[in-house]
Amino acid sequence: MNPRIPKKIIDFHVHLFPDKLFEAIWRQFVHDYDWKVIHQLYYRECIDYLREHNVEKIVYCNYAHKPGVAKALNEWNAKVLDEYDDLFCLAAFHPGDEDRMALTRDILSHPKVLGIKLQFLVTDFFPHDPRLFDLYELIMEKGKRLLMHIGTGPVSNNCVGLEYFLKVLERYPELPATVPHMGGLEYKGFMDLLDKHENLMLDTAFSFLPWDNVRYDQGPEKLEQYKNRILYGSDFPNLILPREGEIDAMLEMKLSQEFYDKVFWENGVGLLPQ
Ligand SMILES: [Zn+2]
Repeated sequence: MNPRIPKKIIDFHVHLFPDKLFEAIWRQFVHDYDWKVIHQLYYRECIDYLREHNVEKIVYCNYAHKPGVAKALNEWNAKVLDEYDDLFCLAAFHPGDEDRMALTRDILSHPKVLGIKLQFLVTDFFPHDPRLFDLYELIMEKGKRLLMHIGTGPVSNNCVGLEYFLKVLERYPELPATVPHMGGLEYKGFMDLLDKHENLMLDTAFSFLPWDNVRYDQGPEKLEQYKNRILYGSDFPNLILPREGEIDAMLEMKLSQEFYDKVFWENGVGLLPQ
């Protein structure tokens, strides 16, 4: 590993699913986007792979693509979290579940559950859906976080985009949310929110792949400016290009040592329970 990258890193955007769901997702990627996932690894293999690649702390997520699956997924999450040290989770939620708030209170009480993942790219509700308000309020009350796939990149649907996120922030300006993919493809719009919304963070997943028209396009100065607010995330194992490519791209930008130390370690570790 390049010496500018810390020896041990934290990856704040990993996906782990039960085996059958992983297989379904990999099939769906091919079906929807013609994306062949290069690492078709199950959860234990993913953890082993990342650990062999200097990832000491893993924050993974999964999400409920439809009503009725969050409960079983979160039971699985609780089991997997107990199996491994240095493993943390952003758990599943669906607004179509009648018992959603009881389920969510329950899973959020697990000390290694950092919050909830909302994946608006694969669900069919809007970020400002009133059924999510209780969730947003509970997250703030419990000091947890959201990982909200809410940007239009690398692909989009009719429920993602900056305009919807603005509606959420209008109501909850203090919302502790991480927006993955640096807010791409609306990079500038999402980065501009960082000044006003101090609990907002961005993650790097998919944003530095050698992929024209999708890649982060706001230059190195903005990365330095917001280096306290960016988390390294890989999206592993659901990648269609090697994960090293993104790390190399960030190295090629010749950012400050402080940037690499913060993004690959300090910022993420600072969000873990102490
Ligand atoms: Zn992801």
